[in-house]
Amino acid sequence: MSKAEDGGAPAPGPDGARLRAVLAQLDAMHRWRGWVWQPGADPFEIIVGAILVQNTAWTNVERALDQLRAAGAMSIAVMDRLPAEELEVLIRPSGQYRQKARKLRAFLDLAGAHGGLRELLAVPKDELRTTLLGTWGIGPETADCIVLYASKQPSFVVDAYTKRVFSRLGLGPGEDAAYGSWKHFFEAALPSDAEAWAAYHALLVLHAKHLCRKRAPLCGGCSLRGVCPSAFGR
Ligand code: SF4
Repeated sequence: MSKAEDGGAPAPGPDGARLRAVLAQLDAMHRWRGWVWQPGADPFEIIVGAILVQNTAWTNVERALDQLRAAGAMSIAVMDRLPAEELEVLIRPSGQYRQKARKLRAFLDLAGAHGGLRELLAVPKDELRTTLLGTWGIGPETADCIVLYASKQPSFVVDAYTKRVFSRLGLGPGEDAAYGSWKHFFEAALPSDAEAWAAYHALLVLHAKHLCRKRAPLCGGCSLRGVCPSAFGR
């Protein structure tokens, strides 16, 4: 098991310098756009968002979050008492609402079993991640989002945007590689830093949405085009 996998602080790997150079460029291109999960955001709201965003766009999640807030249900105590049907109606804009209501229920039960949300989020990151992965409806990406953004412990989040951007740049284990391979690629190469990793994930999402789009990427506006083997129209 590598240091990254067993929770120790990994030494920067051979790709560390190149990765950091790419991430610095992303920061220069996109930090001004801001991000939905600010450092002071409510951990429970982050978790609800991380579950509701599965298989849908963030704009749909925002509508569901607005409905939860308007109903006064954006707290673990209130949501815990909501009948399943009421919760389903409130989160309906996020799609797959019955399944997602069950996932939220499973998370509420998990928090309850640990004595509350604060206690759950205080569990050391590797144990917390394993616990989350053992909870119905929580996969690796959602678990890492919760560990990184709600618990504020370093656990690199990988998503389709991350794979696309780095594969186009000729970095990483390949777009079809397993989640764990990508996670290890970043965690072995970058110093363990929850705040920095939270910003990196946000920057990657912004880059993939605004410039490195799936179809017709806007390479002309990308400051990485000089080092990107996939750049269009160079
Ligand atoms: S140059 Fe184009 S393909 Fe390469 S990272 Fe930038 S937007 Fe993506």
